[in-house]
Amino acid sequence: MSPRDVQRINISSGKAIADLLRPTLGPYGRDKMLVDSDGMVVVTNDGMTILGEMDVELDVVPAGRLLFKLAQAQDDSIGDGTTTAVVLAGELLAKAEELLSQGVHPTVISSGYRMAAGKALEHLEACAIPVRSDDTTLLEAVAQISMAGKGTERASGALSPLIVEAVRTIEDGNEIDLDDVSLVKATGGTISDSLLLQGLIVDTSPPVLSNMPEYIENARIACISTHLNPLESQKGELTVRDPAELGTVLDYEGRASKKIVDDLVKHGVNVVFCEKDIGHKVQQHLANNSILAINRTTPDDIRKIARATGARIVTNVGEIAADDIGGAGLVERRFIGVDKLLVIEDCENPKSISLLLRGGTEHVLDEVERSIADSLGVVRQAHQDARVLPGGGASDVGVSLALRTFADGVSGREQLAIRAFADAVGVIPRSLAENVGRHPIDSLVELRAKQSNGESTAGFAERDIVDDVVTAGIVEPLTVKTHCLVGATDAVASILCIDGILDAEDLNPTGAEAKT
Ligand code: ADP
Ligand code: MG
Repeated sequence: MSPRDVQRINISSGKAIADLLRPTLGPYGRDKMLVDSDGMVVVTNDGMTILGEMDVELDVVPAGRLLFKLAQAQDDSIGDGTTTAVVLAGELLAKAEELLSQGVHPTVISSGYRMAAGKALEHLEACAIPVRSDDTTLLEAVAQISMAGKGTERASGALSPLIVEAVRTIEDGNEIDLDDVSLVKATGGTISDSLLLQGLIVDTSPPVLSNMPEYIENARIACISTHLNPLESQKGELTVRDPAELGTVLDYEGRASKKIVDDLVKHGVNVVFCEKDIGHKVQQHLANNSILAINRTTPDDIRKIARATGARIVTNVGEIAADDIGGAGLVERRFIGVDKLLVIEDCENPKSISLLLRGGTEHVLDEVERSIADSLGVVRQAHQDARVLPGGGASDVGVSLALRTFADGVSGREQLAIRAFADAVGVIPRSLAENVGRHPIDSLVELRAKQSNGESTAGFAERDIVDDVVTAGIVEPLTVKTHCLVGATDAVASILCIDGILDAEDLNPTGAEAKT
């Protein structure tokens, strides 16, 4: 394949991926229904989820892989803006294709694009709006906008205060660790019934014996990662040949089981989470001592419980010490929705909180979870960076105008690439227009005219073009946009540099199998 062919394939597949996502952009973006090879259905509007489900197909062409990585990086570090980043990259590729056909060299296009991206960041930083950390209205607007077009949108009014409160609760100086927030899904009820709980909610199995308590105040909690069974913990297999030996073994089991529980009682433990199994005799002793014990707790839940309650995960129960024990004001199994879940309230670590997500079906809940996870990330960005931009395409139109002026002052062919970049950024307002059923070009022209006349925050608010999107509450964190611009520029520059696709095996002259 000639370098030109490779470029053509990469550009056209990059554009095709962007075209696929464009109709999902913005509050009126449509959903995609994805059906995988097992017939599982996902209905989503989330760019990352759509690309994730296309993973296999994307592998074939380098551009697909690079755009997938672009979306993934945006999703991992920011949590929002994945569609914007991919749509922008697609448009930058389309404009690059025009320049290539006019004979502009790919390296000139890349360097012009990078100059443009640098200028765009400067412009965006200059027009960003500061956010005071106590400005609840603005932060809730950020949360609400990040839910645009998602399954949670209708309930975004009810969810955004929960998200802002969650971020504020876990804030520690300027550190915000989203691991402190557990997202728990419970079917039953509607999305607006979702609530924030100080503490942890865990979907565990029931207690090992039904006569164990299910309501424990002043809980002292042990998190154990091994078997709580003296026979299981012996290495190797235990074979009894002589019936007389059986008595000895049972004796041992009885004494060792009592010793395990005595050690726990000595430290005042009244709740036990065990990652493995709990032996019958241990179970009985635990119940006799009114200890709530749950087995087969997942490693992830054990980790969360330990983090929330200050417990240390115990690997050898014989050596359990006082500071291994965690604490919480209350441990209770209670009905939430249709299931009985375990609630740990008033934890030693006050930053441990849970967002209980409610919804009619698993599908709905999965989409709610994705959307809330994104929103938490976005509000964290806005809170930490403390700067937002006017949304609804307003900042994109601003960038586009600023870059046109900038291009005029640049000599050489890079000027063409900067102009192309300025046009490409217009794809965001154009797509927003298209997705609300407006004429894309007319809308863009109208917005440019308004902004050129001094209404620098003119953009879309829902379906309408308004003079000031900020007063309409359409704002998004500066970092979402800057990350999109930098990521899309880098991805496109890499794609333009590819002039050959080689199978790694072809590079292996010995024919030996490549190491993976
Ligand atoms: P992404 O994955 O890029 O976040 P979205 O589908 O969430 O994609 O769309 C984000 C775009 O939609 C942003 O440009 C944002 O400003 C715009 N947007 C979100 N909510 C609104 C709204 N209510 N009115 C106008 N534009 C909005
Ligand atoms: Mg979004």
